[in-house]
Amino acid sequence: MKSIGVLMTCPMHKYLEQQLETHFNLFKLWHCNSSITEFLKTHQGNTIRAVVGDTNIGADAELIASLPNLEIVASYSVGLDKIDLRKCEEKGIRVANTPDVLTDDVADLAIGLILGVLRRICASDVYVRIGKWKDADFGLATKFSGKSVGIVGLGRIGTAIAKRAEAFGCSISYFSRSQKPFANYKFYSDIIDLATSCQILIVACALTDETRHIINREVIDALGPKGILINIGRGAHVDETELVSALLEGRLGGAGLDVYENEPEVPEELLGLGNVVLQPHVGSDTVETSDAMADLVISNLKAHFSNKPLLTPVI
Ligand code: NAP
Repeated sequence: MKSIGVLMTCPMHKYLEQQLETHFNLFKLWHCNSSITEFLKTHQGNTIRAVVGDTNIGADAELIASLPNLEIVASYSVGLDKIDLRKCEEKGIRVANTPDVLTDDVADLAIGLILGVLRRICASDVYVRIGKWKDADFGLATKFSGKSVGIVGLGRIGTAIAKRAEAFGCSISYFSRSQKPFANYKFYSDIIDLATSCQILIVACALTDETRHIINREVIDALGPKGILINIGRGAHVDETELVSALLEGRLGGAGLDVYENEPEVPEELLGLGNVVLQPHVGSDTVETSDAMADLVISNLKAHFSNKPLLTPVI
């Protein structure tokens, strides 16, 4: 397979890059300072048969159109929002992602964000470090155990979060396009009803045209001044301008965010707020999971180029 051209769209996990270099003829899009078209002219776009993208740069219509021999997009992510799936389908290009292997890590971080916001873990850590504890006790935080948790999108990650929250004695409810027969949680067919009924609202759905800004002013107001919003889905699920104004005006109790609308840009206003915990999109970023995701990308590529079924096909 050493002669097969594979294009990586941006720097990802070093181990993935090494594996791609070992098994394929690897091209790195970020090594080019000019346009994609220029890069592909210099690097013979027609030798490229596979694209490996991620949550930053996937495979949009322009990239797909400039690769006449593209056969497969193997994403180093479970989210598909950076891939033009319609174009891939039209052109018979296969798509694979990395589901399951990252579920536990993302669910763990969602719980970490809840505890971070409610128990003020980041602020109290700073309190100890800067020596303030010697002057006075830190003060009280908010209990997590027993709270009501609402989940937007009861998929793999949403279900894993629900299981963890159950262990904290929380009541679980959810909003999805359809009720899940496997889940013994209360289903809401209206996201406003879900937000009204829970104290912590967690966004864990896929980003699509339908779910862009699914967390809008109405949902935020339904969650209310004591409510906490956790987003480990994608930044564009939340109308960030509305989120910032709700936090500044005290219409929302707090937020734990791993993702943002214009990453790596984070609204300046959030940086000064004590009721917000911010993470730099690291939901699946552990050594163990990143290695497993890389192995899955490589296995999907090898399966495709050996005419075997993909391990985790999307299309
Ligand atoms: P999944 O199993 O496919 O779950 C996606 C869920 O989204 C499904 O439960 C689906 O439920 C729901 N959904 C889709 N369209 C919806 C709509 N219009 N309204 C309400 N719910 C909708 O995927 P997953 O593995 O759990 O991953 C979920 C998402 O997490 C990914 O797409 C990705 O964006 C994000 N993620 C983030 C990180 C991070 O680092 N922060 C890491 C991994 C993944 P229904 O089909 O019932 O509607």
